[in-house]
Amino acid sequence: MLINLAELKRKTDKAQTYQFCEPCQPLTMGADLLTIEDGLNVCLNIALVDSTFLVKGTIQTQIKVSCARCLEDFIDSVHVAFEDEWFSADDLPEHLHGIPDTYPDDVYCLKQEEADVTERIMEHFIVNLPMRFICSDNCRGLCPQCGNNLNNSPCACQHQAIDPRLAALARWETNTAE
Ligand SMILES: [Zn+2]
Ligand SMILES: [Zn+2]
Repeated sequence: MLINLAELKRKTDKAQTYQFCEPCQPLTMGADLLTIEDGLNVCLNIALVDSTFLVKGTIQTQIKVSCARCLEDFIDSVHVAFEDEWFSADDLPEHLHGIPDTYPDDVYCLKQEEADVTERIMEHFIVNLPMRFICSDNCRGLCPQCGNNLNNSPCACQHQAIDPRLAALARWETNTAE
C-alpha cells in the first residue's frame, strides 16, 4: 500500500484515516503454514505532529491454520493493534540523526513521500501473531498414547489413564520393575 505523506502534510488538520485490504501470501511460522483467507484488513490513523507521523493501526484477518493441540485445520480471527512513529528521511528529528540503521523498534523511516508501508505493516502483523493457535479453549487435543482426536471421541487408553485404581497399579508395576 502506498501512502502519500505529502498530501497529508498539506491538509489543514494534518490527519487522515486509511482503510485498505492488503493481499498476503501464506506465511510459514516454524512448522505451521498460515493461510490468510482474504488478505489483511488494515486501518491506519495517521496524524502529523511536528515532524512525526503518529500512527495507530489495526489489522484484522482470518487465518486458516492447524490447531496446536488437535492438529485439525480451523479458521482463526486475528486482530492486531499497533502504534508507530514514522518520519520522512529528509525530515528526521535531531535525536535520530546519524543512526539510520539503529532506529528504536517503534520508529520507521520513510524514504519517499509516496511511501510503501506494506513491509512495515507485515512486521507488526507477524510480531503480534499468537505463538500457538488453539481451535477452542475446550480443545481436548490428541491422546498422547494412540493419537486419537479426543474432541471427536474418547479412546480406551484415555479411560485407563484417568482410572485411579489403574494408575495406582501402573505406579506399583513401575516400582517393582526398578
Ligand atoms: Zn484443537
Ligand atoms: Zn488413546
